[in-house]
Amino acid sequence: MTKIAENIAALSQEIRALERDSQRPEGCVTLLAVSKRHSSAMIREAAAAGQVHFGENYLQEAESKIAELADLALVWHFIGPIQSNKTRGIAALFDWVHSVDRLKIAQRLSEQRPQDAEPLNICVQVNVSDEASKSGVSDQEVALLCAQIDGLPKLRLRGLMAIPAAVQDYDEQRASFRQLAALYHSLRERHPGMDTLSMGMSNDFAAAIAEGSTMVRVGTAIFGARN
Ligand SMILES: *Cc1c(COP(=O)(O)O)cnc(C)c1O
Repeated sequence: MTKIAENIAALSQEIRALERDSQRPEGCVTLLAVSKRHSSAMIREAAAAGQVHFGENYLQEAESKIAELADLALVWHFIGPIQSNKTRGIAALFDWVHSVDRLKIAQRLSEQRPQDAEPLNICVQVNVSDEASKSGVSDQEVALLCAQIDGLPKLRLRGLMAIPAAVQDYDEQRASFRQLAALYHSLRERHPGMDTLSMGMSNDFAAAIAEGSTMVRVGTAIFGARN
């Protein structure tokens, strides 16, 4: 077994144990492997270990890797900040986008999604607990943006994503994730198709799963430190 395969197997076991600990159904949390700044050879190794979902932050870097790995049936998630001039490429290459935080970007992704492709799966990024970051809508803005995305023909609203400020304290981690989960549950009354709460990274996925995460985005704990 390669190191990457070992990491994926250990993480999958840990995720199953955390699901059980919080009385959640087995398999309700999907592992998204964040492969930014790692080579396509490493992604291929992870895929050989059964990993299907991969997350990338930079369009240019992702373009070449997605092309090199076109022989594999992988699901690609865009999770980085989005500039307007990158929407066409993102809409063409990715299956999911987790980092939508303004209407203009959502409109462009819908318009530029190829006609023969399935609607693009969208999570709205919310700025919880991280005052310093410019990414993400506020709690107050999220309902409006979700309603607007619902009206766009080539997008499918799937849920919410957040990157809370990095803290080590488990209870503090849980408090931020609980805030996002509460927003998600209130929005689901109007948007019953929402099924995804994208929260938790290498350092805080246990707290995220305890608060209801359905997708953890893990890079370092699978691939090691980034260069
Ligand atoms: C890089 C990144 C991750 C993965 O972070 P790790 O700490 O390496 O697990 C998750 N989500 C987003 C949005 C990222 O940019």
